Amino acid sequence: MIAAGCDVGSLSAKAVLLEDGEIIATHVIFARPDPAESAEEVMGLCLEKAGLGFDSIDYCVATGYGRNQIPFAKEKASEIACHGKGAQTILPSVRMVIDIGGQDAKAIRLDDKGNVTRYVYNDKCASGTGRFLEIMAGAMGIAVSEMGEISTHAVNPVTISNQCVVFAETEIISLINEGRELPDIISGLHRAMAHRVASLAKGIELEDDITMTGGVAKNTGMYSSLEEALGRPLKQVTSDPQTIGALGAAMFAHDALTGKTNNIQTIIPLRATAHKTCAFDMAQS
Ligand code: ADP
Repeated sequence: MIAAGCDVGSLSAKAVLLEDGEIIATHVIFARPDPAESAEEVMGLCLEKAGLGFDSIDYCVATGYGRNQIPFAKEKASEIACHGKGAQTILPSVRMVIDIGGQDAKAIRLDDKGNVTRYVYNDKCASGTGRFLEIMAGAMGIAVSEMGEISTHAVNPVTISNQCVVFAETEIISLINEGRELPDIISGLHRAMAHRVASLAKGIELEDDITMTGGVAKNTGMYSSLEEALGRPLKQVTSDPQTIGALGAAMFAHDALTGKTNNIQTIIPLRATAHKTCAFDMAQS
């Protein structure tokens, strides 16, 4: 039985294929402007890796910002539910997931059965998202994938005073002009962003077993800065952290094929903010 999960996000599209509940292929691409096109391409390439065609998929669950436009999906689920499900599939003891993607950051608390008990997320402001890091990398003329390694050479990390992406970019350019070293600037950026995300997570109370998912978890500098800001170690997912949402979606598809009922329809993402424009403001107030 082939179950598929497809996660079309703001910056990347991810696909995971399971055969009888075991991962047989995963794939990640940069997202295209049209979510349906992204989904077709990423799933097509994932199927190719597994030596299968679209007609082999018995059930597909879609998630991510583009989840409503995935033509071959039979069902959709929120990213909150999928990141929780995917993380607990790999690390059953995990009770909190911090997912930082391209345009939002989320903290999700889970019970021992993988049900989402509380969550908070910010999608109102770029600070604290992968996009923030991409813009800063662009200002420094490096690739976002280099930031983690470069930050390991930091000697005297800078303090970034601006939260807003627009002002922070100007601040970075000033720091470069002042002659500050790139590793110190990048390390300062990681610390500032980790502090904001940790504040968001602390708003729903930290659990002991926490993992980090989403593309930003590939940034080793952000990973260790988040551990520092949370004051506790993170449990590392053994597979690509960027594909955990798609894995959760594939697990929901597997459950549907095996007759296991779950609560994916009832979990509707809600924004953490009721009256403020930025969730980080709320978490810090
Ligand atoms: P979305 O689901 O919103 O498309 P992702 O979970 O794919 O977002 O995360 C995208 C972010 O992940 C990028 O903005 C970037 O900051 C980060 N990222 C992606 N790949 C890497 C990498 N190889 N190294 C470091 N960071 C990465």
